[in-house]
Amino acid sequence: MQPIIELIDVSKSFYTNEGEIVVLKNLNLTLEKGKVLGILGPSGSGKSTILNILTNLLKPTSGELIVNGKIGYMFQKDNLLEWRTIKDNIMIGLEIQKKITTEAVEKIDRLLKVYDLWDFRNRFPRELSGGMRQRVALIRTLATDPDILLLDEPFSALDYQTRLIVSDDIYKIIKQENKDAILVSHDISEIIAMSDTIAVLSKRPATIKNTYQIELTVDGERTPLTSRNAPEFKNYFDKLWKELEIYAK
Ligand code: ADP
Ligand code: MG
Repeated sequence: MQPIIELIDVSKSFYTNEGEIVVLKNLNLTLEKGKVLGILGPSGSGKSTILNILTNLLKPTSGELIVNGKIGYMFQKDNLLEWRTIKDNIMIGLEIQKKITTEAVEKIDRLLKVYDLWDFRNRFPRELSGGMRQRVALIRTLATDPDILLLDEPFSALDYQTRLIVSDDIYKIIKQENKDAILVSHDISEIIAMSDTIAVLSKRPATIKNTYQIELTVDGERTPLTSRNAPEFKNYFDKLWKELEIYAK
């Protein structure tokens, strides 16, 4: 076991006019090499706060953070710039970091070709479907060559059918490009379909209530779609459903 990311006893409070809100309390998490870690919790439970701490957008109030690798962050909204072409959107991270090299551009061209966006490289975001836009957003994140991907509810803006297809696409890209990933979501099925390990957040202040190792029997290669047909899927679903039930009370 090789930890890529570790959060050790991390706590985070926000100070507002109404007083202190303790969002995370003594939270411990580990992401291992080659794995997808799912973090499950309903809206407002602190999922984005965890990712914002990992990317140094927020400082924890206390606790320790170990990150062995470069992080790429993919948000819920694709944040594509409507006035730039697909390729220029993908280049933006490299442009900002002043890292546009022949090699980097070749890599982007390869990603565009492999993930079926080459013919759309000179088009504008409004000409693409929601699913294609999410693929563009992922490739934009991959362009800066991160080791670890943080995915913040990346499919929640898509309709159900598209969400199934895009989560399959994105999972395959993560595996093919050899990335480690943390996926946060409130969607029980989606998180089982994508994750090797699932950490369930407790009620606020959030700590890790329970951790599940997801082991599924699938025909052939494991993908989110084949995972959904595994015989163990329903059992995990029922367990996680019960874990979240407490929020509804
Ligand atoms: P999630 O991503 O799980 O929906 P968040 O991490 O966005 O949850 O938020 C967790 C809690 O922290 C929410 O109650 C939210 O209102 C609060 N919160 C998030 N950011 C701030 C902030 N900058 N100031 C005050 N409260 C915040
Ligand atoms: Mg969030």
